[in-house]
Parts: sequence; structure tokens; C-alpha cells
Amino acid sequence: MSSSEPTIANRLSCPFCESDSEFFEIAEDALITTYFKQNQDGSFTASDQSTEILGNVRLFCGNCGEALDEYHDRFKEMIF
Ligand SMILES: [Zn+2]
Repeated sequence: MSSSEPTIANRLSCPFCESDSEFFEIAEDALITTYFKQNQDGSFTASDQSTEILGNVRLFCGNCGEALDEYHDRFKEMIF
């Protein structure tokens, strides 16, 4: 009998370091617009921000930093 904990078959793990908990994306070319309101005393407070990504977005392992491009489509499908 070898029934251990149930595992989710499609859990993503880094093939380089086997970490499966932290990942990050880098947008290579993005247009970031930040809107400010000027206060009475002349200072500014950011009120809104919009980001338009123009280039590629790449996925990386948050532990070892290796690029995980081949897993990116799967990654995007699993963001909730
Ligand atoms: Zn890794």
C-alpha cells in the first residue's frame, strides 16, 4: 500500500530547483500611466494607475530566477 497524500497532477514546479511556491512575471515593454491629484499644499497624491503591456511577458521561478517560458501558458490558465 503506497497511498500517500493526494497530489494535484498539474501543479507547476520549477524544473531547475523544484520550487513550487513562488513565481514572478516580467513585462519586457510596458507603458505605465500614473494619475496624480494635487493637494492644497502643492503636494501630489497618486490617484490611479494603468498599465499597458506592449511587449512579451515572461515567467520566472521566484526561488532560483530561471526563465520558465515553456510553462507560461499553463501558468496563465491557472491564475484565479
Ligand atoms: Zn527554480
